[in-house]
Amino acid sequence: MLLKAINLEKGFGETEVLKDISMEVREGEVVAIIGPSGSGKSTLLRCLTQLERVDRGQIEICGKQMVTMNGEKAIYADNRTLHDIILDVGLVFQNFNLFPHMTVLKNIVEPQVKVLKKEKEEAQRKALELLDKVNLKDKAQAYPGELSGGQQQRIAIARALALNPRILFFDEPTSALDPELTGEILKVIRGLAEENMTMVIVTHEMAFARDVADRVIFMDNGVIMEEGTPEEMFSNTANQRTKEFLQRFNEN
Ligand code: ADP
Ligand code: MG
Repeated sequence: MLLKAINLEKGFGETEVLKDISMEVREGEVVAIIGPSGSGKSTLLRCLTQLERVDRGQIEICGKQMVTMNGEKAIYADNRTLHDIILDVGLVFQNFNLFPHMTVLKNIVEPQVKVLKKEKEEAQRKALELLDKVNLKDKAQAYPGELSGGQQQRIAIARALALNPRILFFDEPTSALDPELTGEILKVIRGLAEENMTMVIVTHEMAFARDVADRVIFMDNGVIMEEGTPEEMFSNTANQRTKEFLQRFNEN
């Protein structure tokens, strides 16, 4: 298992956002997380990637304990372990989060130099290789603001890959894009799946989830309502909430 989360709970003030989430991800597996807006999907990804802390629960990533429980309290690992674990994960956001004042190339080089302490030349070689992979080698010297949303998102994916994560998380990678631009992102993600990249993808693209995911998790109101293979979830679900959610989707 590359990821193991047990009984995660997270609240903001009085609001319980994650109520009791347990999930596992195997090496090479692609897991899609679907569910209505406000169900806690982003919060879950943010907790798994250390942008938020859980209140209770256990998380193990790539064999390292990130959080354990001591009685009623969640205990986080020491800073060194937490930093090691950060290096195992990558996160691609809905809104790309590129550095606007840096060229595309620099956006991909800088984290490698800062985080992985790589030599600049080696980092540039890797960046150009990844730009080629996402079909944007000719944009190396452009600034993010000069690119389409779809191009910016492909840069963001290249930037995440530059740090060699063992698990890559995506939070609605296409939902800020015009429909005609989502295809190019989905194609990149599909290519990564073919290379057996381990990925957890929050998405509203049901056809894509069905096609690319090994397993689908349906989250609703802070809990995992149901999970299964795409076939089980999209064709044969017996769960009423899942049915309603998918039906609403088909109508839109
Ligand atoms: P989803 O990604 O499924 O739409 P989110 O995880 O973004 O859901 O949000 C789940 C709930 O948590 C929402 O009710 C949201 O308002 C609340 N929430 C998320 N982040 C914060 C925060 N930083 N402070 C307070 N409430 C938050
Ligand atoms: Mg969200």
